[in-house]
Amino acid sequence: SLDAGWAVAWARRTAQVVTENRELLIELDRQIGDGDHGENLTRGFTAVLAKLDALEEQPADVGAVLKLVATTLMSTVGGAAGPLYGTAYLRAAKVTGLPELDSGAVVAMLEAGLEGIVVRGKAGTGEKTMVDAWTPAVEAAVAASDAGASPAAVLAAAAEAARAGAEATTPLVATKGRASYLGERSAGHQDPGATSSALVLEAAAETAA
Ligand code: ADP
Ligand code: MG
Ligand code: MG
Repeated sequence: SLDAGWAVAWARRTAQVVTENRELLIELDRQIGDGDHGENLTRGFTAVLAKLDALEEQPADVGAVLKLVATTLMSTVGGAAGPLYGTAYLRAAKVTGLPELDSGAVVAMLEAGLEGIVVRGKAGTGEKTMVDAWTPAVEAAVAASDAGASPAAVLAAAAEAARAGAEATTPLVATKGRASYLGERSAGHQDPGATSSALVLEAAAETAA
């Protein structure tokens, strides 16, 4: 079930996949940014692991885990991604103060995460940012939940849509963030933040399965 133990497993799995994909994220960010995205996220989620290891007792609920991730990312990641992910996790934490998430709560968590990113970064879809992974993820989650899917299946649908959304950023021209400085030359490269967002949501789905 999607309880606090799952949230801890999700955070730990995210640290693992972000570290495994550190070079990829650095390379993607080198193409259209400053090449630090993989380093930024590896630093942030390594700090999350340390915080989890230091916990004396199991967090009370999913929201407590997401809040720990939020505050840790905000204080260790920096750049654009730190505040964006930090706000996403913080908003998500506010709607997940529950012992266990049902399908509707998974949808609410993802919607809150996207809302945090949009509130913070003011990007819409098609601007070649993490919003282009999160928006289809939320849409797929809503559709799956409405169709009666289990919480794990809702996360799986969200992860698959996030991956497709990240891949679909390749032809886009960036109009937000550092990549926008390149103008038309940003086209032809997959957005690093959308790519890491797909990894985060895939980790959520894998640990829920
Ligand atoms: P920085 O650009 O400060 O070096 P990172 O490299 O860690 O930060 O993160 C870059 C990613 O942040 C981009 O690939 C993009 O997905 C995301 N991003 C940048 N600006 C915005 C924004 N305004 N809204 C949403 N996402 C954004
Ligand atoms: Mg960067
Ligand atoms: Mg930077």
